[in-house]
Amino acid sequence: MAAATKTFFTPVPSPGAETLIPPTLKSPNLHYIPHSSAKRLPSLTIRASAAAVPSPSDGASHPKSPEQFRVEILSESLPYIQRFRGKTIVVKYGGAAMKDPKLKASVVSDLVLLSCVGLRPILVHGGGPEINRWLKQLNIEPLFHEGLRVTDAETMEIVSMVLIGKSYNINADTVAGELAASLGAEKLILLTDVAGILEDRDDPNSLVKETDIEGVKKLIAEKKVAGGMIPKVNCCLRAIEQGVRTASIIDGRVQHSLLHEIMSEEGLGTMITA
Ligand code: ADP
Ligand code: MG
Repeated sequence: MAAATKTFFTPVPSPGAETLIPPTLKSPNLHYIPHSSAKRLPSLTIRASAAAVPSPSDGASHPKSPEQFRVEILSESLPYIQRFRGKTIVVKYGGAAMKDPKLKASVVSDLVLLSCVGLRPILVHGGGPEINRWLKQLNIEPLFHEGLRVTDAETMEIVSMVLIGKSYNINADTVAGELAASLGAEKLILLTDVAGILEDRDDPNSLVKETDIEGVKKLIAEKKVAGGMIPKVNCCLRAIEQGVRTASIIDGRVQHSLLHEIMSEEGLGTMITA
């Protein structure tokens, strides 16, 4: 059995660290509470204290302009930029996020932004939908075993046609996980077409927000993860067991989900820690 997914990785070029903001907090109304754990905190750790520096824009008569919002949000991103700059973040994307050209462009722009502020994003992308589109046109039913494509001789012809060039005949999640481990990445982030790991895969409201190796093993043992989610959780486990700090499975259908996951305490999808 072989699984085929078009997979190649692209280091996003870094613009150089010299353009970064100095690593000290200058804003008087911003209190960053550092924490050593990679785990999520129950509430936001960045608190803007309105009392510290009253802004003339506070109050109903002076609503904040979009520019003020942008400046404030940029300023509040500083602790995350400081925490993650210079760190490698392996991002795998496929599924719905890859099919929609608008989402695709937005993922690329998020990666550029992360790179501009000093993170080292590495992109790994799959080719499942493209292969399936070709198979459908030729009336061949795509076949999967435990989330991995079963590549028979007929499918292999299509796969090799789609995957001409720099490709690996393995699942892109697996590649991303191994890459994250071997690069000593801080984070592995898998963008997909669901909110994250669902406790009940038929219930979109059953998102597991945070779990650890034990929790994931339990979900696997209880057969709560199936299909394409199997290689995802397995590669997250392998990456974490090899030292990657956190592995997240997030919703690629949501615009800027990548930024939301990295630049916020509550995150977006499922975060797995050791
Ligand atoms: P990608 O193209 O991003 O690799 P896959 O289709 O391979 O996406 O894997 C994601 C799919 O896994 C989801 O769309 C969902 O159908 C399936 N799945 C199975 N079990 C779960 C679960 N417990 N939580 C979330 N998704 C699950
Ligand atoms: Mg998949």
